[in-house]
Amino acid sequence: MKIDLHTHTDRSDGTDSPTELMENAKAAGLDVIAITDHDSTEGWKEADEAAKRVGITLVHGIEISTKLGGKSVHLLGYEFDPGYQPLAIELRKIIDGRNSRLPATLERLQGLGIDITADDVRARSANAAAMGRPHVADALIELGVVKDRGEAFERYLTPGKPAYVDRYAADLPTVIGLVKAAGGKTVLAHPWSRGSHRVLTRDRIRTLAEQGLDGLEADHNDHGAEDRAVLRQIARELGLVWTGSSDYHGTGKVDFPLGSNTTEPEQYRRLFG
Ligand code: AMP
Ligand code: ZN
Ligand code: FE
Ligand code: FE
Repeated sequence: MKIDLHTHTDRSDGTDSPTELMENAKAAGLDVIAITDHDSTEGWKEADEAAKRVGITLVHGIEISTKLGGKSVHLLGYEFDPGYQPLAIELRKIIDGRNSRLPATLERLQGLGIDITADDVRARSANAAAMGRPHVADALIELGVVKDRGEAFERYLTPGKPAYVDRYAADLPTVIGLVKAAGGKTVLAHPWSRGSHRVLTRDRIRTLAEQGLDGLEADHNDHGAEDRAVLRQIARELGLVWTGSSDYHGTGKVDFPLGSNTTEPEQYRRLFG
């Protein structure tokens, strides 16, 4: 049984529609796929219909932008009630924060002599719930300023670079509480990617487990072999589930194909069984 619990569609910064994601997941030989767009559940309904049609098990999920100790941390939430208002309100705040920083981002790029407008970004994010940095990156590619998203982040969009603008992110323990209150499960996405070792220490993960965290995404393309083994060990010690996922973004991210990391059936059953 092949299980992939972290993927994106064009409802956030992936490039497949939810229907295409289900078709591609089936073609990749997956039995179970989670749709986990950034801060949005907009793709769930279309994915439901397509999953039924192609014959694949769909897990309803989300990847929520949070902060812990001033650092960005991504939290995967699964099978929660999207109508639970305290969580829905928080998600709205995150989406609004992403949209409202766009003018400042564009002003900085224009200040660097790049002729980019909000319409350019809108054209790259037609189906998305919010305009994020990856869509700005896509507009920069279209304008011939950079060759891919990686270069756009490296040169302009990552913290410390000239067009980076901070945005609202929810407090991690608060969000874990909200997803749990909405009847869902919570897993830390790529806990040790991009230097988050420093904030997500073993002690901090223990505290989060006490606050209701269910699991750690150990197998992720951003983690080396040693980090994966240590994360699995921490999960064992704390009684947490460990997962593995692709973090597929369609053509938006190379080297993250569907099923490139998978979750063991036993861990899947611990989480949802
Ligand atoms: P935003 O929602 O605007 O803050 O953008 C965050 C998204 O940008 C993340 O979900 C990643 O998929 C993407 N991202 C972050 N850093 C990079 C990078 N260095 N290269 C490509 N994509 C990135
Ligand atoms: Zn993304
Ligand atoms: Fe992420
Ligand atoms: Fe992701």
